[in-house]
Amino acid sequence: MNQRVAKLLETIDEKSEAIPYVHTLTGRDPGKTCVIFLGTHGNEPVGLYAYEHLMEYFAQHPLEAGTLHFIVSNPQALKNYASASTVDEQRRSRFVDINMNRMPKDHPRDSYEGRRLQEILPLMEAADIALDLHSTSLPSDPMLIPLGATEEHHLQAIPVETIVSGVGDVLGEQFLLHYAGGYPGTSCASLLVECGEHEDPKSISNALHSVEALLHLHGLHRFPVHPTPTQHAYTVVRSIFFPHSSYCLVEEFGNFAPIKEGDLIATGDGPPMFCPHDGHTLFAFQGGKPPSIAEEALFLTLPRVTRTNR
Ligand SMILES: [Zn+2]
Repeated sequence: MNQRVAKLLETIDEKSEAIPYVHTLTGRDPGKTCVIFLGTHGNEPVGLYAYEHLMEYFAQHPLEAGTLHFIVSNPQALKNYASASTVDEQRRSRFVDINMNRMPKDHPRDSYEGRRLQEILPLMEAADIALDLHSTSLPSDPMLIPLGATEEHHLQAIPVETIVSGVGDVLGEQFLLHYAGGYPGTSCASLLVECGEHEDPKSISNALHSVEALLHLHGLHRFPVHPTPTQHAYTVVRSIFFPHSSYCLVEEFGNFAPIKEGDLIATGDGPPMFCPHDGHTLFAFQGGKPPSIAEEALFLTLPRVTRTNR
């Protein structure tokens, strides 16, 4: 049982108006509309923890301009996470019916997540900027994943060292963020930040620094700016699915671990799987298996490129 998550969900629901589990702050001056997604995956409470800190801050320093919506993307999955009593139950609380970052284009209403998307869609369509806060099952440095109409200055403003582009292209148009600004999200700057390991306190500060940088950049609030370090950019070119549930990765490949063409990736009741090109591995699941074979077991990137910011 995670009381902190349960309590934060209750708080946001109490503050909600027209739509459940959406807390809206309005700035003193007119300005842009920003949506921040918390808990798109139920087993990733980092966004809720960042929300808790931001509310303490905004109680003393009210939002200066624009509109800020904190949207709990998947309330039921987070409730399941909050009431989970084993690590396995926590893992299974990632979503209820469908993964919100693998939404089919016609987002069917007969799933819990499809209905939730319908509910929050009007807010998403009116957004100028969208940020989705995630965390990872394995220890990891933070990663910035640009989607939609994200431009160079957004990448430079977020104090995250690692940029991973191309994920949206590899998956097709199926991220929750693709609906921000109106489907297919071409009018909205959309950023996904993987903040670090699920319950690592550093993940919360990474989430906070990303929110602060984005709100500062778009004039919603003047936060002290954290300098952006030299950034390393990786381009995802391939996702690996298992052909059968018997398959397992031959090791828990770390994020950005280098891999060579021809290296063994996975084995199971069928032919072994090998790496088709040089690059790096990304987003392996703990234990070397995704929760279902409908999910990617591993992503592969091209070799990294270094970007020096002034
Ligand atoms: Zn996630």
